[in-house]
Amino acid sequence: MRGSLRCDNYIHLRFAARVRWVLTVGAPTTSMPVRESEALILRSFPLGEADRLVSFLSRSEGRMRGVASGARRTKSRFGSTLEPFSYVRMWFYERQTRELVRINQCELIESFLEAQRDYAVSLAFALVSEVTEAVLGEHEVAEPNFRLLLVIARAIKAGAKLPLPLAYFAFWIVRLGGWMPALDRCSRCGADVHNARASMARSGLFCPNCTLPGQRTISQEALQLARRMASEKLERLMKANFATAAIDDVKDHMLNLVEQHIEKKLQTRKMTADEPGQLK
Ligand SMILES: [Zn+2]
Repeated sequence: MRGSLRCDNYIHLRFAARVRWVLTVGAPTTSMPVRESEALILRSFPLGEADRLVSFLSRSEGRMRGVASGARRTKSRFGSTLEPFSYVRMWFYERQTRELVRINQCELIESFLEAQRDYAVSLAFALVSEVTEAVLGEHEVAEPNFRLLLVIARAIKAGAKLPLPLAYFAFWIVRLGGWMPALDRCSRCGADVHNARASMARSGLFCPNCTLPGQRTISQEALQLARRMASEKLERLMKANFATAAIDDVKDHMLNLVEQHIEKKLQTRKMTADEPGQLK
């Protein structure tokens, strides 16, 4: 119940953000005031000789892209603030005719750079960034996603083994997106699946009688873990002892739902699959 309320609020927030965005962008002004927001850097790329193109999630304004002028110069004022997952306070302004905002200044609040010296961690962060970019529309307020990313990044920075935070991330991405099927009953006949061998597909969870060929089974342990993820904090789940197979099962099913929703394969997921054991 609490989850569905959260979800309704989330959809409402996204709609409100879209309306605000249309009003802002459509307004007949040529220069916009400088905005200030907390942000998480998702990725950044070299742009031209001296600049960087930055993809970030603003806490108050949603996912955006912008240009940080001079960020590639040796004595850049941006320092290490544009590294992946840097948690920053950012000042930027939007220009009416451009898709990209101009980033004026960043102040580092928290860095996750040290943790990413581990290759497996950098792959995990890349997967989280890719999923976030794929599921969130630009300028759509997504504060719950912002908090989710911080929770995940902090757990990994604190040394958590990667599978559980990633499974938790994938679970909540699906839940916040509004694509989570009911986890306790068959979506076709309504039968209780608490003790049944269920399968999961885009259209929901299915009891053995309703399962169609090609639908992937999800284990009872994975379903139990998923139900707990809906109501318990990651911190608490990390103290429990879940079987690796159940954690992987949740992660795989949730990432499948993400891929079905965005209608393409996640590149970084393929990379982690090419490197067996990287996310163990
Ligand atoms: Zn059924």
